[in-house]
Amino acid sequence: MTTNSVKEIEDLVKIISKLPGLGPKSAKRIVLKLINNREELIKPLTNTLAQVYKSVVRCNICGNLKSLNSNCICSNKKYDQICVVENIADMWVIESTGIYKGHYHILGGTLPSFEKKNTGNGLLIESLVNRVKKNSIKEVILATSASIEGETTSHYISDSLKDTKVKITRLAKGVPVGGEIEFLDDGTLYSAFKNRSRIISD
Ligand SMILES: [Zn+2]
Repeated sequence: MTTNSVKEIEDLVKIISKLPGLGPKSAKRIVLKLINNREELIKPLTNTLAQVYKSVVRCNICGNLKSLNSNCICSNKKYDQICVVENIADMWVIESTGIYKGHYHILGGTLPSFEKKNTGNGLLIESLVNRVKKNSIKEVILATSASIEGETTSHYISDSLKDTKVKITRLAKGVPVGGEIEFLDDGTLYSAFKNRSRIISD
């Protein structure tokens, strides 16, 4: 800390530089911009952050974010496809390609590949099975990454869905091995989605 520093500002810089894509230099620029616009930026930002902190929660059925005061999008019954992703960032990437406009199921991670007998590990898998049954879903698209953990998870899910007779598809192998959905370019993702293939489970 330099002699000219103000503790509150140093604290804010520290927090902001933890955000993705920001280092200490850009964090300082942001803080300066905030301080020079107290009424237009700091005030509404403080209020909005407090609001998000208080009322944005994760839906324990589909894993999406929702406002505490409103129903989650998954409670709307009119859909027959669900795309299963590992996290919200993956959902946003797929949404931004525009190839899929249906509903999502956000697992909250992947299963570890080393466990012989997986039990779901706190991922939203049981609730996926329930959603499929309840809403008479016709297709589940597995868009987990092409890593070993992603494959393990995808196998576990298709196994869990076996009794429902739902059509299960998996993104085409255009997804590079070990590739995470979040970092794929639009073209690769688009063709992986378009050429998704049915998983045959015995
Ligand atoms: Zn939901």
